[in-house]
Amino acid sequence: MNCTQISVVLAVGILATPFIGAQQTAAVPEVPGLPHAALAAAASIDSEKIRAHVRFLSLDLLEGRGPGTRGAELAAEYIATQFAMAGVEPAGDNGTYFQSVPLVAVHTIEGKTNFSFVPASGQPVDLAYGAEIVAKDQTGQETADFDAPIVFAGYGIDAPEYHWDDYAGVDGKEIDMKGKMALVIVNEPPSDDEKFFKGKALTYYGRWTYKYEEAARRGAVGVLIVHRTDLASYGWEVVRNSQSVEKSYLQGDPSATLRAAGWIQHDIAQRLFTLAGLGDLDKAIDTAGTPGAFHAVELPVHLKAHIESRVRRYESSNVVGRVRGVSENNQAVIYTAHYDHLGIDPDARGDKIYNGAADNGTGCGILIELARAFAQSPVRPPHAVYFSAVTAEEQGLLGSQFLGMHPPVPAGQITLDLNYDMLLPIGVPRSVSLGGAERIDFWPAVQKVAKAFDLALLPDPTPGAGHYYRSDHFSLARVGIPAFSVDQGELFEGHDEAWGRAQFGDYVAHHYHQPSDEYRADWDFRGNAKLARFGFVLGWLASEQAKTVEWLPGDEFEAARKASQASKTK
Ligand SMILES: [Zn+2]
Repeated sequence: MNCTQISVVLAVGILATPFIGAQQTAAVPEVPGLPHAALAAAASIDSEKIRAHVRFLSLDLLEGRGPGTRGAELAAEYIATQFAMAGVEPAGDNGTYFQSVPLVAVHTIEGKTNFSFVPASGQPVDLAYGAEIVAKDQTGQETADFDAPIVFAGYGIDAPEYHWDDYAGVDGKEIDMKGKMALVIVNEPPSDDEKFFKGKALTYYGRWTYKYEEAARRGAVGVLIVHRTDLASYGWEVVRNSQSVEKSYLQGDPSATLRAAGWIQHDIAQRLFTLAGLGDLDKAIDTAGTPGAFHAVELPVHLKAHIESRVRRYESSNVVGRVRGVSENNQAVIYTAHYDHLGIDPDARGDKIYNGAADNGTGCGILIELARAFAQSPVRPPHAVYFSAVTAEEQGLLGSQFLGMHPPVPAGQITLDLNYDMLLPIGVPRSVSLGGAERIDFWPAVQKVAKAFDLALLPDPTPGAGHYYRSDHFSLARVGIPAFSVDQGELFEGHDEAWGRAQFGDYVAHHYHQPSDEYRADWDFRGNAKLARFGFVLGWLASEQAKTVEWLPGDEFEAARKASQASKTK
């Protein structure tokens, strides 16, 4: 098929589809290196097919797609069926489309859980669970009892690239954390220097998940993160509420071994400091953020704990499909989008079903259309292309974490992951936000393709918020795979940015993670289709490269990439 024919196809599509307006929005621009047949496949991506998927996946019938429920299974079966109908091959367990993901949900029973500070001399101090301290037993056991020395480990960060080790004691040697409790500060050392913890941007070291993982690697029994509202950028109530519901983990996750992964309220941490004779906590926090000024210290106080948990083991699945490439070698591109959402809240008033139409019916609709377009392309992509609808994103990126730990081809051979999450279908975007894409050597190609698609590239508006670490692509980046999400900016055809901002503001305030995130017949899916085509072209070009895409030298994921490539022969 040639370009003239493509315009004919598009024109027919436009006539048959009342929702498509301006002709240029449906077009796929000429991009150097992209064969015409691939361009035709990209052009076949149909906004109305995406609409149909989003509508189905967000029906009340699917009960909010909570992982481990019937609704989520229906969604997974639907996606697998769409893959099969399009000619996408199964790439899950045992020749199926499904990769089983074993999960465990843990809920700390407030009334039966007790914590106290036990000083070397003097009376123990009992803590009020919820108001002063919260914690989860990550191991999925029903009771935990321990009496552990507390070590104040600053920000809880070991970052050799910044010559920073919060676990080094006064003699410069690392304190042995086995069986001990780490007391650490939320966030990371303050910095205006790009070369030191990336300046104002939050690195992964500042995320609480990192602090838990690092302490677990060191054999700690638990972690208490000191909450201070200004450093956390949210109040204690947010911590408390998020701990009052069950939290899921991957069963047997080697990085989730803490018996108490918790938080402690600022004033209570001050009380602990006073008990330990360490003086002013805020002063200690300042010192902990000053290069060369801090060393870890074991307190003359133990944390005594009895934790009871309600535990529920369950299974969910990632859906995984593949389109074969021309080359038989294992280099592969992968597309991801999570299909799970929050399920049903039996205690909600009125509408109890979290339909998750935008979050993330839209990403799934895009993923399914991408898979269909690749499978039905008149020419095969240069290398294999994988498509995975992942589960349990809302539980903490768990399905994608499992996919990263058990990828369909070795992680070192996956050249690029493009992820789609929550693309509000409100028109045709003229800007995109691709946080993380600037960190890989494929970035010049990304810039070229964005320009061809009339998409302005936006910098991350809030680098300090650490958005990169909060979406499924991160699960693949942490095993070294170059990865980013394709997201739209605020500028849409026919509107100014203020309009786009107002639309997103309204969605976040009234529908995001609420039962009202429902399918709307007046939604305009042309933008979803445009960004699917954009991602199609990026994936094809990445697939065409003789060598895998890599992180730029010095990137925080470079070490993981090298490790995965060193072991790729297995
Ligand atoms: Zn969500």
